[in-house]
Amino acid sequence: MPDSTSAAPALHPETRLIIAGRPPHEPDQPMNVPVHLTSTYVAGGDLEYARYGNPSWTAFEDALGGLEGGRCTSFASGMAAITAVLDLVPEGGTVVAPRHSYTGTVAQLDQLASKGRLRVDYVDISDTAAVAASLAGAALVWIESPTNPALEIAEIPELVAAAHEHGALVAVDNTFATPLLQRPLESGADLVVHSATKYISGHSDVLMGAVITASDELSEKIVAHRSLFGAIPGPFETYLALRGLRTLPVRLERAQATARELATRLAGHDELDEVRYPGFGAIISIVVRGGKEPADRLVQRTALWVHATSLGGVESTFERRRRWQLEQPTIPDGLVRLSVGLEHVDDLHRDLVAALDSLSDPGDDRGSALPGPSAPGA
Ligand SMILES: *Cc1c(COP(=O)(O)O)cnc(C)c1O
Repeated sequence: MPDSTSAAPALHPETRLIIAGRPPHEPDQPMNVPVHLTSTYVAGGDLEYARYGNPSWTAFEDALGGLEGGRCTSFASGMAAITAVLDLVPEGGTVVAPRHSYTGTVAQLDQLASKGRLRVDYVDISDTAAVAASLAGAALVWIESPTNPALEIAEIPELVAAAHEHGALVAVDNTFATPLLQRPLESGADLVVHSATKYISGHSDVLMGAVITASDELSEKIVAHRSLFGAIPGPFETYLALRGLRTLPVRLERAQATARELATRLAGHDELDEVRYPGFGAIISIVVRGGKEPADRLVQRTALWVHATSLGGVESTFERRRRWQLEQPTIPDGLVRLSVGLEHVDDLHRDLVAALDSLSDPGDDRGSALPGPSAPGA
């Protein structure tokens, strides 16, 4: 079994991420936990069958759980992690959720509500007083902060206190902030969810999710959900996710510095109505003047910025969010979400500004007349 980080609380997150989930320092032990490709184990131990456990998962879970300050359970995707948390809501219970949550979260909540499995009450998560006033009878408060892609910020400690007064659980989707910038369990949240597909893995080559909780009772329920419903991660995926996680501090530090600088340089550009940057993290949302058509032209006219959904990779990507039919109508038509990667800030800036400066020329770009995909983007 991989070594855990039992003696690590005094160490900094950067150090903990390097040492977590390693085999013991003994002669001939490998540096990394191998990819355990097995469907079963010789009977009589703790694991028994590979839907219940895999040492490759444990190594990743020790590292991410150590960073968030709780017990981590890894899943096949962020959506699978979200499913496990929503399954904690009792039959017919009410979920209070941000109206600008990630579109997949809203779609899943809407589907569960339409079947009568639960009720959902959408709120402006940045309006703490309004959220607090809507908590009577809630079973779960879902928080996403910053929200995808509106970049609204929730006051997590205040919302946790208000939710707990009403006896509601609090889950925080911490995908955008990462545990380096925000640790909701330290503010009393009950559960943290990640799309580990994004910053945690960081190289656009893995889909994975995770749930972290400080309570053993909740953790056992989350593990039981994974064992029974079977949305387990692949051992190779967890290996890659851990490999990515080890460099998260340096990746995020650089991407954040570049995002800050880009947000400053883009502010006031003639072709933009708005530049949204919450002051931390590496996502910027820009609102292109003139809405859909110029925004669709923008994403076709760059050389470095890749037109693609998802975020948090080493490559800078961007997309107009409303191209997805399920994106909320309250997100501006011309909003383009930028995921800032690790290229040099001057190259990214020059590429984007050249495309922005060209927008007054309609050209003959393809694609803008096509209907958007009907699934939620990422
Ligand atoms: C992408 C994303 C998800 C969904 O994660 P998948 O790994 O794509 O299933 C959930 N929440 C947020 C904030 C996301 O950006």
